[in-house]
Amino acid sequence: MKIIRYQTQNEPPHSGWILDDLVGEIDGDLFGEYRRLKAETPFDTVKLFAPVQPTKIICVGRNYAEHAKELGNDVPKVPLIFFKPPSAIINPGDSIVLPPQSQQVEHEAELVVVIGKRGRNITTEQARDYILGYTIGNDVTARDLQKSDGQWTRAKGFDTFCPFGPWIDTDFDVSDALITCRVSGQPRQMASTRDMIFNVGTLVAYISSVMTLEPGDIIFTGTPAGVGALAAGDEVVVEIEGLGRLSNPVRK
Ligand code: ZN
Repeated sequence: MKIIRYQTQNEPPHSGWILDDLVGEIDGDLFGEYRRLKAETPFDTVKLFAPVQPTKIICVGRNYAEHAKELGNDVPKVPLIFFKPPSAIINPGDSIVLPPQSQQVEHEAELVVVIGKRGRNITTEQARDYILGYTIGNDVTARDLQKSDGQWTRAKGFDTFCPFGPWIDTDFDVSDALITCRVSGQPRQMASTRDMIFNVGTLVAYISSVMTLEPGDIIFTGTPAGVGALAAGDEVVVEIEGLGRLSNPVRK
């Protein structure tokens, strides 16, 4: 099933599901009891929102060997995790805004895990039961500030630096999917999820050994090699084979 958050007319945004090019409401609690109402609204007439509202956004750094190498870093021995604030989230199609404090804002195409159930100390074997599904993300990063600050909060945390969506796919096969990123039509990143150093099960286990994961929390699983600068006027398209495509323009 593909899950979105959307709005028609002036009602508040709510969850829905997609059948071909139609949208139906999800009535009830997406993370508990719900039923799917008939899909009858054309997909291209609804306004899309980021598909969940996480209490926290956990990201994994240097989870692809070639990307660690391109920035001159060693491959970590355990997952390297950091946060982005929920205030950085934008909706599919919304603009990434370049902040005046940075001269080098870069894209990072990533597979994103969406947590479906509260959990602590989840094992790698149990991880599947705690995952609602997968979506597409762009871990936008002010690379110059990441280097100069040491701590990554500022570099990763600007408003608009967390585009993700457009939907959650609950049936996606995560084992070997191609992640690509194109900027204004130019190919920048291309790698398989198979190339991750720590796989999704290991990441969920590791992170939940530190903090309780809540329904709707999201995990950015790291970016492959090929990160590069964004300029005002660019259009960034992150695509994951079999999952979909996330597109955002860039402006000053
Ligand atoms: Zn990243």
